[in-house]
Amino acid sequence: MKKDNFENDLKDMLDNQIVKRGISDERLIHAIQAVPRHLFVPDDYKPQAYNDGPLPIGFGQTISQPYIVALMVSELHLKGLEHVLEIGTGCGYQAAILSHLAADVITLEIIPDLAERATQTLNHLGIKNVSVVTGDGSMGWVNGAPYNAILISAATPGVPPPLLEQLAEGGRLILPVGSHGFQRLEIWSYCDSIFRVETSIPVSFVPLRGKHGWKI
Ligand code: SAH
Repeated sequence: MKKDNFENDLKDMLDNQIVKRGISDERLIHAIQAVPRHLFVPDDYKPQAYNDGPLPIGFGQTISQPYIVALMVSELHLKGLEHVLEIGTGCGYQAAILSHLAADVITLEIIPDLAERATQTLNHLGIKNVSVVTGDGSMGWVNGAPYNAILISAATPGVPPPLLEQLAEGGRLILPVGSHGFQRLEIWSYCDSIFRVETSIPVSFVPLRGKHGWKI
């Protein structure tokens, strides 16, 4: 497929899936514009890279639907100076978006081959402020804590307690909470030593594994 086609696909995706559905943060729109989504998906799926849905990335995992990536990132209210933790690197697409919006990003992936592939793609794009770590993100990553923003892109049975402990004062955490196949996005904020939670739209993510994830 020619480069031009991807440019048109990206423009259509931004207009019809992101802006029309109410995402208006200019910094986020520029970040989405700057990240070539087709470079993150396996060759067989490149023609569908900008479609309005998730796609397989191998090992039974998926890259999230573009709108869901945009919505989750927008709920973090990033201004540019934040230290961010992402759980579930997958192919690294969302980490690449975050890299444009925050000071630095630590992203954890439990499947070593996916972590390796994401590292290569991020390096290829010259993205220097993302560190990919292989490990169980349900425990968070205490070495880098506290974080101004935490994003979990796998379905959880409930908020993993270590992640609340690793959230900085003024911080925000977004994650899908529910059962296998059906969850709702929850947005947690931590202000004046009090946690508040809001519930957002229904979603369907692959399960979070590990100590505070699903035991399957
Ligand atoms: N944000 C990704 C999509 C993530 S899909 C993207 O932009 O492509 C969810 C990912 O979470 C999968 O790659 C899965 O392997 C990973 N995952 C599941 N449980 C995990 C855990 N406990 N720690 C870290 N990663 C986990």
